[in-house]
Amino acid sequence: MPELLFYSFFFFFIFFQFPSSSFTLSDTYFFNCGSTTSLSVDNRTFAADSNSHILSDTSSILLKDPNPPLDSRLDLYKTARVFTRPTSYEFDLQGNGTFVIRFHFYPFSSQGYNLFSAVFNVSVSGFQLLSNFSAQKSSRIHIKEYFLTAGSNKLKISFTPSTQSPSPSFAFVNAIEVFSAPDDLIADKASYVNSSQDYIGLLEQALESVYRINVGGSKITPSNDTVWRTWVPDEEYLFLAQAAKKANPTTQINYENTGVSRYIAPESVYGTAREVNTISNSMPMKFNITWQFPVNSSEKHLVRLHFCDIVSTSSTNQLIFNVYIGSSLAESSLDLSKIRYKSLASPYYEDYMVEPDKAGYINISVEPKEAGKNAILNGVEIMKVYPLRGVVSESNSKKKDRILLIGLSIGGSLALVSVMSVVCLLALKCKKRKEEATTAESTMWSPLPVYGESTYSKTPERTTASPGPHINLGLIMTFAEIQSATNNFDTNMLIGSGGFGDVYKGVLRDGTKVAVKRGKPGCGQGRHEFLAELNVLSKIHHRHLVFLIGYCVEQSEMILVSEFMENGTLKDHLYGKDLSCLSWKQRLQICIGSARGIHYLHTFSAQGIIHRDVKSANILLDENYSAKVADFGLSRAVPSPEHSVVSSAIKGSFGYFDPEYFKRFHLTQKSDVYSFGVVLIEVLCARPVIDLSLPREQVNLAEWALQWQKKGLLMQIIDPRLAGTIHPDSLRKFGETVERCLAEYGVDRPTMGDVLWNLEYALQLQETAMTREPHEDSSVNASEPPLPEFRRLPSSGVKYWERLSGHNE
Ligand code: ADP
Repeated sequence: MPELLFYSFFFFFIFFQFPSSSFTLSDTYFFNCGSTTSLSVDNRTFAADSNSHILSDTSSILLKDPNPPLDSRLDLYKTARVFTRPTSYEFDLQGNGTFVIRFHFYPFSSQGYNLFSAVFNVSVSGFQLLSNFSAQKSSRIHIKEYFLTAGSNKLKISFTPSTQSPSPSFAFVNAIEVFSAPDDLIADKASYVNSSQDYIGLLEQALESVYRINVGGSKITPSNDTVWRTWVPDEEYLFLAQAAKKANPTTQINYENTGVSRYIAPESVYGTAREVNTISNSMPMKFNITWQFPVNSSEKHLVRLHFCDIVSTSSTNQLIFNVYIGSSLAESSLDLSKIRYKSLASPYYEDYMVEPDKAGYINISVEPKEAGKNAILNGVEIMKVYPLRGVVSESNSKKKDRILLIGLSIGGSLALVSVMSVVCLLALKCKKRKEEATTAESTMWSPLPVYGESTYSKTPERTTASPGPHINLGLIMTFAEIQSATNNFDTNMLIGSGGFGDVYKGVLRDGTKVAVKRGKPGCGQGRHEFLAELNVLSKIHHRHLVFLIGYCVEQSEMILVSEFMENGTLKDHLYGKDLSCLSWKQRLQICIGSARGIHYLHTFSAQGIIHRDVKSANILLDENYSAKVADFGLSRAVPSPEHSVVSSAIKGSFGYFDPEYFKRFHLTQKSDVYSFGVVLIEVLCARPVIDLSLPREQVNLAEWALQWQKKGLLMQIIDPRLAGTIHPDSLRKFGETVERCLAEYGVDRPTMGDVLWNLEYALQLQETAMTREPHEDSSVNASEPPLPEFRRLPSSGVKYWERLSGHNE
């Protein structure tokens, strides 16, 4: 049945004609990967890819997102296909021109596969398009778009798990698009900006779209583009916003007899533009407009500029201008009225082959030729040019294979030398570390190279473990991007302020709401915390830990960009602010969510991580009041749950300190358990953990509450707003859990796994109001097999042990 569906869609598309066009879309393959059903998106049908004959290996895995995006436009991202070994999709092709290929990646965690951690390569018909790709970048959705010729009547797309990642990796994809491009979309030649000669041979190369900008216009989504491209506005890339203004938009674009089709760019691109802002008195008479695009400085790029005169009138030609790319004059005295056709609003574009400047920028400027004239730009596309086909072994050209072999052998030798050097360095480092661990002090995290220097510094703390940094460079964001997201750190966007610096609300270009934490300049300790937080956040992914979207270390900035938590801190919902009262069930769910997050941290990798600052102000609530633990600035790695770290610098927050840590400087995961016990009691009583205005015995909430718990009278001190709503059994279970968390010695405290288990049970008792079972008592331990009754209690339908492990979420 799926095969039948697949073919019917295939033939439907083969004969599908675009309206008002001579272009016939052919060789069309749209796949909803990892799904068994087809899906209609933007007037196309994405067929299930479970068709065995297109996949070289049928052992790949179908994965469903347990928390799929709610927006129906993102339905393609509900499933993914996972490849644990090299696997290819292979299609027959009718045409031999250029193909458009798009891959959609949307990471999630399911069935033990954390797609955020996948690292893999993707090659298509001999081009290595993605090398050690990871979907951990600034935005959740990654769409990679390429243009290439297949070189044969088959198209082979191969996914290969990386062998370079620290642990065995896997590959994944959520959707694939393949279709023949309109003939004129990519030409074989482009102009060199600093030479009168043309670059020939583009069709031999693969191109990857890096920027596609609708200058002066708004975002164009795939459903509004002739070949389902996305065009984004240019504001973020404008160098001096005051120098330009938007031209009056028009939809009356005259494509006829111009040689430019709508596939090159739709009306919505040619019909909007930016022109020189001559209105501003503060600006000189003759100046230019510049857009700046960060790119990889070592790669060649194809730059396509789109022009269309939507500012002149029939009587006056306003436009005569120069176009610069970098410092080179790409067009001198460009007069659109003199190009091939003389009517207004006729589209025109030009392709240039460009090498970025050393700093890694492509700057594009338009400048009126003389005072009184205007300059305009309607659209920009920047595409990375891939080296010749043959980087992967599917090439059919023997000559290219030979070049490849020579290249590979040189590369291989270099790689071998590099690997050996790294091994030697690591061995030396390990030796040094061991010595340091036994004799003196070592730092908690290895150095992260920022600002070109090592940040390795010795602190007065020591530990027996020091995990290496795996900070994902793909998460780097530009300062300009962050400035634009926060409206240049507008004080109206300020949402909080912490020890490290200010926190702003921001909105990224794709509409994602973010929290931007900007370190105070010149704060040495802040820098240490920044690196610690970055190190932890870039490694961990869990739905109850705040998700890192990106970071910026440009100039002297230290900025962390994480997902925005709509409902702020748990603390604010308990007291101090006049927010609506959380019910007992909501509070339990928040505690369970936070416990899951901390449990995940404690059991993360062989080492585990201690948060060290667990408190209600560091538990954030999203729009559904689901809890996420935040603020990892003080977190530390430990060798294992049994080990402790000697820390002479007491860090954390008053009222939450583990007394053992306070007295003996011994930091263990049980210190977090103590602090979490304080959070639990705070949640029940809804008052500050230290309140100096109260009588002496009440000042410290944990101590005071423990006395009531021991007397069996905890009910007396609960948040009065909860009176009569907590089932006594639920409260009893909760009180027992708190008491165990607050035990004086760490060994007597439960693990976070136990705490989680007990809180789940307290919730069940609240929900089902079940009576106390004779065997149920507070000594039940999560390391023992669960009792049969408990197994069927939790509601989610997932096995108890799976839920407890937390890793799979
Ligand atoms: P501190 O250093 O005091 O622990 P932070 O610097 O982490 O605090 O955060 C300060 C305040 O900013 C928080 O109390 C919270 O109100 C807000 N905040 C921090 N992160 C986020 C986020 N991801 N979403 C929404 N608000 C946040």
